[in-house]
Amino acid sequence: MPIPMVDLVAQYRDLQPQLEPAFLKALTAAQFILGPNVQAFEKEAAEYLGVAHAITCANGTDALHLALLAAGIGPGDEVITTPFTFIATAEAIAYVGAKAVFVDIDPCTFNIDVAQAQRAITAKTKALLPVHLFGQPANMAPLMALAKEHQLQLVEDCAQSFGANIGGIQTGAMGDVAAFSFFPSKNLGCFGDGGMITTQSDEMAETLRMLRNHGSKVRYYHDIVGYNSRLDELQAVVLRAKLPLIDHYNQERRRVAHRYNAVLCLLNLQTPCEDGVGLHVFHQYTLLTDHREAIQQALAEHKIASAVYYPVPLHQQKVFADISAGTHFPVTESVAQRCLSLPIYPELSNEAVDEVCGVIRQALKA
Ligand SMILES: *Cc1c(COP(=O)(O)O)cnc(C)c1O
Repeated sequence: MPIPMVDLVAQYRDLQPQLEPAFLKALTAAQFILGPNVQAFEKEAAEYLGVAHAITCANGTDALHLALLAAGIGPGDEVITTPFTFIATAEAIAYVGAKAVFVDIDPCTFNIDVAQAQRAITAKTKALLPVHLFGQPANMAPLMALAKEHQLQLVEDCAQSFGANIGGIQTGAMGDVAAFSFFPSKNLGCFGDGGMITTQSDEMAETLRMLRNHGSKVRYYHDIVGYNSRLDELQAVVLRAKLPLIDHYNQERRRVAHRYNAVLCLLNLQTPCEDGVGLHVFHQYTLLTDHREAIQQALAEHKIASAVYYPVPLHQQKVFADISAGTHFPVTESVAQRCLSLPIYPELSNEAVDEVCGVIRQALKA
């Protein structure tokens, strides 16, 4: 049996009896834009996350873009972020006309290195944008202190961290504003594109609701230049069905991760480390190895998927050549050359995990 990176069909089969009638109901109600399921999901998500407001939108990239706009970030501003993330994190900074200032990552968690973020603060710095990479919360306490001390906006990229928390406080409830993605393969994923912004601020929430809907509070009255960025009703149906299961899904991801750890920690590679500060929800299980190609080849021969997240750090991307000329981030560069992500999803069986580990053990022996 092939082992994919994610198995969305398995999850659909489980939810099918409940989803299909819910889809039919939404189809006949025919309120497709900002309908009752979208509204209900926003309330349910806000309650789960412990935030005053959850505002859905079209995707996670838009969520970051709108979050930065609502935080008042614009041309001439600098936003400190990590170069070891998906491109969208920094694209959103460019969309608002600000400059992404990359700083290196922590070698254990692969999240932004707080000491380096501190050193990168200038008079132009307006925001910190940590990413809770692979599902492990960034080190938020010192970042919150830093934001407070320097009066910076703290914007969380929670695309990979739905349900991750620090001492019970959810990612997305710690910054001034936070962005989530419901891309199908994320921990909480829908059946297409989807996103959400969270905030405790009533004022920001009002702006965000306008921004995602053509700058309008009252239909056909437009106060600001907004966007068409809404979550659609059918995606909200999916998310409402999955939200009550997210803790279970994340627990199962942790089961898989810990089973991988138990075998792989004995081998000549670095298993993902949990810093013990927050709850890691393992969006990805990413190890470091000097034998990446050999492992990937052996896995492929056994029809086992693997992936490199991310092979090229953002400061080495062509698109950011101008803003990152001459910058070097040794930890990021070394991690990008050695990282390898293994299949992980809630439905992955222990037997399958053992099979993956067996193939890796053999590959490293050879
Ligand atoms: C997935 C992802 C995004 C973007 O989300 P989309 O819904 O695909 O637009 C942003 N940041 C990170 C870290 C992501 O993993």
